[in-house]
Amino acid sequence: MLNILIILFALFVYQTVWAEKYGKFNAPNHLLVTVLAFGSLILCTTFPIFQAHGVHHDFSAIPAIACLLYGDHWTALLIAVGYIFTRTVVSGEPWADSAVPFGVVFLVALLLRKRWETYMHRQRIGAVVAIDMLYVVLAEGWHVMWLGAMPVDAVPHVAVYVVVHVTVTGLLVHLIENLRLSLKMKMEIERIEKLNVMAEMAASIAHEIRNPLTVARGFLQLLKQQTRDERSQTYLSFIVDELDRAESIIGNYLAFCKPKPSQESVLDVGANVQYVANVITPYACLHNVEMSVRAEPELYVYGDGEKLNQVLMNLMKNAVEAMPRGGTLNVHARREKQWILIDIQDTGHGMTEEELKRIGTPFFSTKKNGTGLGLTVSYRIVQSMNGRIDVRSEKGKGTCFSIRFPAVGQSPD
Ligand code: ADP
Ligand code: MG
Repeated sequence: MLNILIILFALFVYQTVWAEKYGKFNAPNHLLVTVLAFGSLILCTTFPIFQAHGVHHDFSAIPAIACLLYGDHWTALLIAVGYIFTRTVVSGEPWADSAVPFGVVFLVALLLRKRWETYMHRQRIGAVVAIDMLYVVLAEGWHVMWLGAMPVDAVPHVAVYVVVHVTVTGLLVHLIENLRLSLKMKMEIERIEKLNVMAEMAASIAHEIRNPLTVARGFLQLLKQQTRDERSQTYLSFIVDELDRAESIIGNYLAFCKPKPSQESVLDVGANVQYVANVITPYACLHNVEMSVRAEPELYVYGDGEKLNQVLMNLMKNAVEAMPRGGTLNVHARREKQWILIDIQDTGHGMTEEELKRIGTPFFSTKKNGTGLGLTVSYRIVQSMNGRIDVRSEKGKGTCFSIRFPAVGQSPD
């Protein structure tokens, strides 16, 4: 218990000193991690749990292993050296007793570190439990090899020690992951708040710009009626058209920003698909993407048409963006038993398994100017319409987003 308490105390100190107060730096404090890990491993070694055939057993390896995975390169190296040093000096072991098993673990952790950031919560716990098990087994094996067979009465002690060691390591990583997640969520909420403020500002500015535009347009039209000169007429028409375009862009922006009460009704999916495909076509042409749209007649679902359009727009835009060197975008809406299915298939760069797992989480984006919100919003809308989105993707070949909604029987009228 004392050893566990020492380790938890280090985590607690880190949480209060750095994570809470300085969370805004959005970076771990490696110096503090090193100092705390070193402190806790010295304390654990000073108060060993028991001795079996002359060897001190304690939990000092746990903070050291955690550092190998969570610290930067320097922390990992310092802690590895510090661990071997402490065990040699404080426990009085020959240095090879800790250097050999920990060296192996160090190399394994080094290989894992590269992929550590891509691992999910459970994979991390699995990985750390495996590493810890490797360490304990190696360390015990090493002792048995050099000191001869373990005395029979020490075996149960050592067995319990191994189990608890591995469990505590798993729990520690679980705790660290939870702390990191709550910190990340706190920062994401702050970011969203900031985005909200900015969107509100932009919306009010857009609204203000609209008024002078309308006035200017009115006077231009008056001028157009008064001039006889054909050239001026043409120029004035151009100006009015362009002003109309600006007006419609601002209008769309405002419509998008302002949350409107949802207007639910029976929708014909085919019409929505066709509408969004038409809107996206110029964007697709710009990216050398060929579009092919097929929709069966009479595909009725229940929901908010604008929101459905937003989902289709997000997915088609992503599909086009996944094909920077051109390709084909296939959109196919059809009925399958009680479901209405919309497949949006591209021949773009596809996604890896890891990316596939992470899409839909807020702010996950692999694009330079991506927001990582498109899919988050889309998933939420589809869910609110009692539907779901399935994704199949192959790296280098393409991706297919498949949306499904429950079909409804009657026609929109
Ligand atoms: P954004 O488009 O701003 O990056 P999204 O939420 O729309 O945000 O998409 C998140 C990420 O999902 C993208 O950055 C991309 O990596 C991946 N993605 C989405 N759609 C596709 C697709 N059709 N093909 C390949 N990757 C995709
Ligand atoms: Mg997007």
